[in-house]
Amino acid sequence: MAVPLGNTVIPIVNKLHDIFAQLGSQYSIDLPQVAVVGSQSSGKSSVLEALVGRDFLPRGSDICTRCPLLLQLIRRSSKADEPEAEWGEFLHLKDKKFFNFSGIRREIQAETEREAGGNKGVSDKPISLKIYSPNVLDITLVDLPGLTKVPVGDQPSDIETRIRNMITAFIKRESCLILAVTPANADLANSDALQMAQCVDPDGHRTIGVITKLDIMDRGTDACNFLLGKVVPLQLGYVGVVNRSQEDIQLNLSIKDALVAEEKFFCTHTEYSDITDHCGVPQLAKKLNQILVQHIKTVLPGLKSRISAALVSVAKEFASYGEVSESKAGKGALILNVLSKYSEAFSSMIEGRNEEISTS
Ligand code: GDP
Ligand code: MG
Repeated sequence: MAVPLGNTVIPIVNKLHDIFAQLGSQYSIDLPQVAVVGSQSSGKSSVLEALVGRDFLPRGSDICTRCPLLLQLIRRSSKADEPEAEWGEFLHLKDKKFFNFSGIRREIQAETEREAGGNKGVSDKPISLKIYSPNVLDITLVDLPGLTKVPVGDQPSDIETRIRNMITAFIKRESCLILAVTPANADLANSDALQMAQCVDPDGHRTIGVITKLDIMDRGTDACNFLLGKVVPLQLGYVGVVNRSQEDIQLNLSIKDALVAEEKFFCTHTEYSDITDHCGVPQLAKKLNQILVQHIKTVLPGLKSRISAALVSVAKEFASYGEVSESKAGKGALILNVLSKYSEAFSSMIEGRNEEISTS
């Protein structure tokens, strides 16, 4: 994967996430996610795929992403004598491992049809996919349907509002980083992506601008002003990328080859040679990584105090069971204590005193 590894903060947060998930929803925490927003066919799914470095998302010129896709990347270290296994697992198909990434794409398409119908409908029920790989950074990426204005197929007349609400539900969270994707062949001042991002993140501290399709701009124009923030300034700045065209996809150009082609594009287009830190998927990955680490560092103190508070209340409950002793008799007494407390609470409940079974 293109995202550089090497920071230990992110795996720690993902571990916390799993622990909190087991404790139940009252301890749920908003962890950093990265969501892509933009108009339909701006290249959102292509950007995510390039970041992951594998082909597995439905893409195309029509509406392909029709429900949110929560994509949790999970890094698993591979042992020296083991082949580098990578696989995907869907929440709706527990215990089935997909080792073939085109199989993952087919399953996303099939589940999309089950949830959102066969004819261009959309659904806000997310599809959850975990990808296990030694080559990924532990983050959650969210692919979202693109903004459209005119209902087609089975889409309801209020399709634009529906999609807007669906996107807002994800990007309004303070802990969500927004990749606002705009194609270079459209005017940045008209960008749906930037407009939506501005609504939820007015000072732009969690929005990264991504300009796609630099390869198909009008001849004689370039995206330098966009990338330098001269048209619409953004605190975190912009990165320009070149992803695969539909023809490249039909010709089965691999992501790896596409990254090589992108590099070649930037080498041969000298207008970009002074702003190379704004160019290419690897730069986007680097930027994302830096921002993510910074972001996590800022939310950690809050996380810590919530964990401490939970710990204090558990310790209080534990203390209410009485002295803990290592001896057999001590343990017996402790268990008796716990049982009698619960049976007291239980009998008062049955007697209609309606007290909670609680020992704190
Ligand atoms: P989404 O609807 O925003 O998810 O967009 P997709 O990722 O599905 O891409 C829409 C179409 O644009 C596909 O046919 C892609 O092959 C094509 N595309 C995406 N990025 C680029 C790019 O940088 N250059 C070119 N030429 N085509 C691109
Ligand atoms: Mg898409």
